[in-house]
Amino acid sequence: MSDLVSQITARRSDILARLAKAAQDAGRSASECQLVAVSKRQPDARIEAMLEAGQRVFGENRVQEAQDHWLARRERYPDLELRLIGPLQSNKAADAVALFDVIETIDRDKIAGAIAREIRRQDRHPQLYVQVNTGEEAQKAGVTPLELPAFLSRLREVHGLSVHGLMCIPPVDEPAGLHFALLAKLAREVGVTSLSMGMSSDFEIAIGLGASSVRVGSALFGERQS
Ligand SMILES: *Cc1c(COP(=O)(O)O)cnc(C)c1O
Repeated sequence: MSDLVSQITARRSDILARLAKAAQDAGRSASECQLVAVSKRQPDARIEAMLEAGQRVFGENRVQEAQDHWLARRERYPDLELRLIGPLQSNKAADAVALFDVIETIDRDKIAGAIAREIRRQDRHPQLYVQVNTGEEAQKAGVTPLELPAFLSRLREVHGLSVHGLMCIPPVDEPAGLHFALLAKLAREVGVTSLSMGMSSDFEIAIGLGASSVRVGSALFGERQS
């Protein structure tokens, strides 16, 4: 094994052990908590090493960069699962539906319409999540908690889309647990089962509050390139 592969393998084992411990402490099974390796702005060599370490689920926040990282690798790894965790523009809807298995950032009618059209046109059916702006921050994407029920109805009734889960990114200056608990409560209220929440610094808290997937970047790969 190269140094990089053994280093990345060790990092991944450490994160998986922490994930399993957090699940166990919460009386949950580790298999209910999926580790999404966030590969945005990571060098190719680390991505290759992560694949060698056995990781198959990856998150990206830009469609174009995700294509650069994954279009060719998809052929080599048919069991890859790719998740879009960043903001989506409607002119990228076709590429997003073509590439991703999960799109976590549905938050506007225009995007929903564009995604629905592409799903029909391509007959590809990625799982869809709605991003919730739990902190109601002006600069952040996502629907507010208050808007969520009506937005979900519109997705179903106007666009014919079914929603698999909710996703949030808590404000940096507030305890993340409050936001994870709010997202879990909203999911119960609207009858959605999957929860994408928790990053490098707080994924154990998220697992304790019901995350079904955690999005971990720097703690797995090392610091990102700027
Ligand atoms: C970059 C990113 C992450 C990963 O962040 P780390 O702190 O490096 O784990 C998770 N979620 C989203 C939406 C991101 O953009």
